[in-house]
Amino acid sequence: MFDALQDRLGGILDRLTRRGALTEADVSEAMREVRRALLEADVALEVARTFIDNVKARAVGFDVVKSVTPGQMVVKIVHDELVKMLGSEAQGISLAASAPVPILMVGLQGSGKTTSTAKIGRRLQTREKRNVLMASLDTRRPAAMEQLATLGKQTEVATLPIVPGQSAVQIAKRAMEAGRLGGYDVVLLDTAGRTTLDEALMAEVVEVRQATNPHEVLLVVDALTGQDAVQTARAFDGALGVTGIVLTRLDGDGRGGAALSMRAVTGKPIKLVGVGEKWDAVDEFDPQRVANRILG
Ligand code: GDP
Repeated sequence: MFDALQDRLGGILDRLTRRGALTEADVSEAMREVRRALLEADVALEVARTFIDNVKARAVGFDVVKSVTPGQMVVKIVHDELVKMLGSEAQGISLAASAPVPILMVGLQGSGKTTSTAKIGRRLQTREKRNVLMASLDTRRPAAMEQLATLGKQTEVATLPIVPGQSAVQIAKRAMEAGRLGGYDVVLLDTAGRTTLDEALMAEVVEVRQATNPHEVLLVVDALTGQDAVQTARAFDGALGVTGIVLTRLDGDGRGGAALSMRAVTGKPIKLVGVGEKWDAVDEFDPQRVANRILG
C-alpha cells in the first residue's frame, strides 16, 4: 500500500542526509518535495500542509541547519511528525464496559463490514478470550445474514439465529438479550450497508444505536477508495458519532492516502486494518510501525 510513497520519501530524505551541511533553503526545498509526495499518495491537502508546517517549525526550533548531522535530524523530525499524524499510539478495541459489551459495526455496502465483523469476533475470542456473539441486522439482504452465519461457522464464533420478518432494532434487542442470557462478553452488531450514504441508512443505524447504547461504534471503510474513505468517515461521524475506524484492503495497491489522512481529518483512531480476505487477515494499526515502514 505504501510502496510508492516509501520510494519517494526515501529518495528525498537520502539526498538530504548525504549532503552534510544544509541551509534553510535546502530544508524548505526538501519539504516542498515531501509535500508533493504526500499529495501524490492521496493525503488530504490540509493534512499534508499541517504536516509540513509542523516539520518546518520544529526544524527551525531545533536549529537543525547548525547541527552536526542536519539531514538526520530532519529525518527524525519527519518520522516523529508522521507518527503524530497517524495517531501516536496503537489503540485496540475497548471492552471496558459491563458484559455483554455491545459493539456496533457500521459502513457502506462492500466496505468489508461483514468480513471485518467476523475477523473481530474471531480475534476477541482467540486473543482476548472473550465469548462473542455476532448478529446481522441487514434485513434487506438475506444473503448478508447468511454470509455472517457462514463466517460464524468458519471462525467458530456464535451467531444469533436468523428470524425472518424482524426489524433491525428488534434483531439488535434480541441479540443483546441473547448475549445476556447466554453469558456472552461481547455482542457484535453488523448493521446494514448501502452503496451510498443516505438518510434512511443513517436513520436506521441511529435507531439501533439508541436501542443498544454501544460501547464502540466502529466504522468500516475501504482504504482503496482514498479520499472518499475519509469523506465517508466524516459523514458517518457527523451523523452517528464513531469511536474508531476499521480500514480494510490495506493489502491492496492503493496509494495509502486514506490510511495516512484518516486520523488527522476525523480525529478518530484507526483501531484495526484488514489485510486480506481471510478471517485471520487483520492487524492492529500501530502508527510507529507504519511510520517505520514508510520511512524504511
Ligand atoms: P460488506 O458489504 O461491507 O459487509 O462487505 P463484505 O464483508 O461482504 O466484503 C466485501 C468483499 O471484500 C468480500 O469479497 C471480502 O472478502 C473482501 N474484503 C473484506 N475485507 C478485505 C480486506 O481487508 N482485504 C481484501 N483484499 N479483501 C477484503
